[in-house]
Amino acid sequence: MTQQVVKVKTITSITHDVLQIVTVKPHNFSFIAGQAVAISINKPSWENEIRPFTFTSIPTDSFLEFVVKVYPSHKGVTNELLTLKIGDSLILHNVFGAITYRGEGVFIAGGAGITPFVSIFRDLRSKNEIGNNKLIFANKTKGDIILERELKEMLSKNFINIIADENIVGYAHGYISESFLKDHISRACENIYLCGPAPMMESVEKQLHYLNHKHKTIIKEEF
Ligand SMILES: Cc1cc2nc3c(=O)[nH]c(=O)nc-3n(C[C@H](O)[C@H](O)[C@H](O)COP(=O)(O)OP(=O)(O)OC[C@H]3O[C@@H](n4cnc5c(N)ncnc54)[C@H](O)[C@@H]3O)c2cc1C
Repeated sequence: MTQQVVKVKTITSITHDVLQIVTVKPHNFSFIAGQAVAISINKPSWENEIRPFTFTSIPTDSFLEFVVKVYPSHKGVTNELLTLKIGDSLILHNVFGAITYRGEGVFIAGGAGITPFVSIFRDLRSKNEIGNNKLIFANKTKGDIILERELKEMLSKNFINIIADENIVGYAHGYISESFLKDHISRACENIYLCGPAPMMESVEKQLHYLNHKHKTIIKEEF
């Protein structure tokens, strides 16, 4: 794909360390819900610092949206995004990604690993096809939960939060465990979608194996 330069339309803090960035969408630009794009910042000395971010908008939207967790300590691209202003621009490189919707199932996300699922759920909602999909969203604190209200509106009782560092009424407490997965994934579930940091993904995959869910289709991407 040729590079596309897109202007930032809005940039908003949606949690203490997550930005929602909306850009212009180039003419004839296409992607599938769940896919990512390699991005760099269109500023001197940043054009070649390319990092992957997932579209959280849906293919039919007239704009592109990204939800980005920033890591100031890395002094890398996400830290530089904190200085971005309306009218600045990003460079979009190739579109790629392993996660696309393959049918109803259980989605398991850790932190910023929610982003491909945001696009998939928004896309399903736009077609009235949310169905019986279920989301398990693991975070350290309640304040880390990205787009909590919208996810609750879309999924209702099928939106399950688990929080490691805080014990809050109405939210499961701790890390995802084998018994937690057993309670939330039925034998009939055919697809498991998994996205998050490597340690979380490894641990969940091991637990799914022990629970004998290894024959289900696991659609995954490591962040
Ligand atoms: C397919 C895909 C899609 C993704 N989509 C999204 C998304 O939609 N939203 C999102 O938030 N994230 C997403 N990510 C993750 C995102 O790409 C990374 O968080 C991002 O690349 C980090 O870039 P950075 O330049 O800020 O930091 P890095 O590239 O991680 O680091 C820059 C430099 O900081 C140093 N460094 C690295 N780790 C540490 C550390 N722990 N402490 C101190 N210094 C360190 C290293 O010297 C490194 O060269 C996605 C990842 C993939 C693979």
